[in-house]
Amino acid sequence: MWWSFFNLYHPKMELNSRFDIIIAGSGAAGLTIIWYILKSPKLRNKKILVLDKSISPINDKTWCYWESENLEISEFIHHSWSELEVGANGKTFSETLTEYNYNCIRNGDYAAAIINKAKELSNITFLETFINSFKSKDQFGVVDTESGIFEAPIVFQSVLPSPGFDKSKVDVSLIQHFIGWEIETNRDVFNPEKAIFMDFNVPQKNGVTFMYVLPTQNNTALVEYTIFSDKLLNENEYEAEIEDYLEHRYQLTQDDYNVLRKEKGAIPMEDRQFDTWYCDNVMNVGTVGGLTKPTTGYTFIRIHNQSKEIVSALEQNRKPSVSQSSTYRFRVYDMMLLNILNTDHEISLTIFHDLFKKNRFDRILRFLEEKTSIFQELSIFSTLPYIPFFKSIYKMKHRIFTGA
Ligand SMILES: Cc1cc2nc3c(=O)[nH]c(=O)nc-3n(C[C@H](O)[C@H](O)[C@H](O)COP(=O)(O)OP(=O)(O)OC[C@H]3O[C@@H](n4cnc5c(N)ncnc54)[C@H](O)[C@@H]3O)c2cc1C
Repeated sequence: MWWSFFNLYHPKMELNSRFDIIIAGSGAAGLTIIWYILKSPKLRNKKILVLDKSISPINDKTWCYWESENLEISEFIHHSWSELEVGANGKTFSETLTEYNYNCIRNGDYAAAIINKAKELSNITFLETFINSFKSKDQFGVVDTESGIFEAPIVFQSVLPSPGFDKSKVDVSLIQHFIGWEIETNRDVFNPEKAIFMDFNVPQKNGVTFMYVLPTQNNTALVEYTIFSDKLLNENEYEAEIEDYLEHRYQLTQDDYNVLRKEKGAIPMEDRQFDTWYCDNVMNVGTVGGLTKPTTGYTFIRIHNQSKEIVSALEQNRKPSVSQSSTYRFRVYDMMLLNILNTDHEISLTIFHDLFKKNRFDRILRFLEEKTSIFQELSIFSTLPYIPFFKSIYKMKHRIFTGA
């Protein structure tokens, strides 16, 4: 296998337990911190330990993003789309993007490339082990693992929820859950230039539901059935809906395609605030650090922004102080929409319909990226039914007027 070349540390070898930096969890957040450390002449020679229960890259997540800043990650892009389509309330809207590309990266490719680069440096050690807990002791973050105890003045962890997690306020607790099939068809049915961002024109049985289609060639695509609700389904329920969609939208029967790969996910959609620090010297990063945007599930670009801030602080010998992933204004918008998604599915669909019918897609992506000005936001809101938002403000007033 291609990843067997990784020179993994063997737990029985003697390992000095003290490091300059420990990265606990080598998913998107851990890998991205390593990526920026590798680019930093000041940090790349530090003694670094990377811990994860599995350091064997596999492609089981497709991370999509659109970017307005040059993040220097184009080498990882697996496919890009210049056109997006959205369907809602029986209508379909398509638009060619002018400010962005919609890009996807496969997590296994990303991990393999970064781990291979890191392995060129003997000061970076990878250890495959289960992490039990974190604590702080004498100015060090301490990681308790099944292979021993390791410590460093700074630990970045993307593995365990912070101790305060269960006590934080939550009014809406939904999940964005999905199963995707990467398929190859026996004839050309897809347009590899155009991604189906959200197609809500599907039966709305279990919550607000849409299909997401990422074609990479005329006959290959990732086709994902996604629901916003508080309960997961059985795998065969998601898969039956994918089969139905392929039949109705593309006239494909089961004999017309092979399923090459599957991916699944359950991403929290909550109005929760997250702690930046697990304890002194142990910082929460990635999803457990609250970087997932609750109304969309998008996290990848926020992880890049956070990792850049972390590496810049380390270079200046400062304690990283990562600000809230969203400002108050955007937390309030997310709370209002979460509340609507939770309580009124029909209105939710009308909101998506009006949003994509009456606004340019680039503007919507900029809004979802939280890069719009308040005037641009008011202009977007003026295109949406306002009563549900007022009702939502009323229902969430105890949060909105106390700092969200
Ligand atoms: C299928 C899927 C698709 C997604 N698509 C997108 C997308 O298109 N765009 C986007 O922006 N976001 C997307 N997301 C959301 C988000 O970007 C990902 O979940 C991302 O992987 C989060 O990064 P992370 O580092 O916080 O967590 P993870 O990538 O999950 O990394 C956590 C790491 O911790 C390790 N670990 C966990 N527990 C232990 C333990 N006890 N001991 C040792 N190791 C442990 C795991 O093995 C894992 O490697 C997607 C999520 C999923 C699940």
